[in-house]
Amino acid sequence: MRPTSATIHLGALRRNLARLRERAGAARVMAVVKADAYGHGLERVARALADADAFGVASIADGLRLRAAGHRQRIVVLSGPDSPADLAEVRRLDLDVVVHHEAQLGWLEAARGAPVRVWLKVDSGMHRLGFPLEHAAAAHARLAALPGVADGIVLMTHFAASDEFDNPLTAMQVEAFQRATAGLAGPRSLSNSAALLGWPAARGDWVRAGGLLYGLSAIEGRPAAEFGFEPAMTLATRLVAVNPLRQGERVGYAATWQAPADMVLGVAAIGYGDGYPRSAPSGTPVLVNGRRAAIVGRVSMDLVTIDLRSAPDARVGDPVLLWGGALPVETVAAAAGTIGYDLTCGMTRRVLFVEDEA
Ligand SMILES: *Cc1c(COP(=O)(O)O)cnc(C)c1O
Repeated sequence: MRPTSATIHLGALRRNLARLRERAGAARVMAVVKADAYGHGLERVARALADADAFGVASIADGLRLRAAGHRQRIVVLSGPDSPADLAEVRRLDLDVVVHHEAQLGWLEAARGAPVRVWLKVDSGMHRLGFPLEHAAAAHARLAALPGVADGIVLMTHFAASDEFDNPLTAMQVEAFQRATAGLAGPRSLSNSAALLGWPAARGDWVRAGGLLYGLSAIEGRPAAEFGFEPAMTLATRLVAVNPLRQGERVGYAATWQAPADMVLGVAAIGYGDGYPRSAPSGTPVLVNGRRAAIVGRVSMDLVTIDLRSAPDARVGDPVLLWGGALPVETVAAAAGTIGYDLTCGMTRRVLFVEDEA
């Protein structure tokens, strides 16, 4: 068996939820578990976070998985129904739906059946999903008039740049949202993880948090550990070769890296076929036997090559940590030109997932 594993720390997930609750104050917490819980595994994460006030998913299929696992709290389909037929399934599974578009409003108006809980999404400036500000009140009135829509329509919006604490866009979005929804009845939901850190006044009645639950930060240069959150995934493998390399010899596909001196090169059993980013350049950190070392040369499908000058005693079979614990995934992501979310979401099926209760 390949020695490549992603260990999911269930205790870290639970403690991160508790930390999030502290920051959320009186607001309720929706644990966002889309994309297979940011790559950590939907069912295991939902089990660890079973006392979240709600779950947020990207598809009805994920709602079905959560109901099948026995979760009884609200489950919000974050982009809502994709077709009129979806509404029957939403009712059967007792899911909440986001309504962000005129087309969805029309399907609800044409549908029959028990009332559905709706989150009305208003576009306050991100320009991805949501009713335009000037149509928010009319959309709310049409929904509120429908017997097929439950009372307590939640008014929501999503931030485009809450990870940039000095970007005025967030304050502008808050103000625009408040103006467009003034006087409308119902709870409010604005904040994602980054907004909870940087814009505490925007908490509203429901916060929708994903990243921080997993110990992931979207804030450039500031891993979630800086805010007191623990990484929930450790990605590790082992050395499968340790070889001498002479000064001037080149390493890997396209021979992109050249040994600056006589040295020892390690080869570890992980590559882009596991979800380790091919874009990680020479210099991207890893921990070999707990010592910081660096990837050199191209990341290949099954293997990476490592400069072992900082871990000269390393032997075949020794552990290599790619991220987690003392090496934030955000650091690796920054080297690879992306964010931690992208890396944890990208784990492939051949990676062995292991659960750690602690
Ligand atoms: C993914 C998502 C969130 C959670 O964002 P994080 O940055 O992971 O906290 C919140 N709201 C919506 C609408 C989302 O799609």
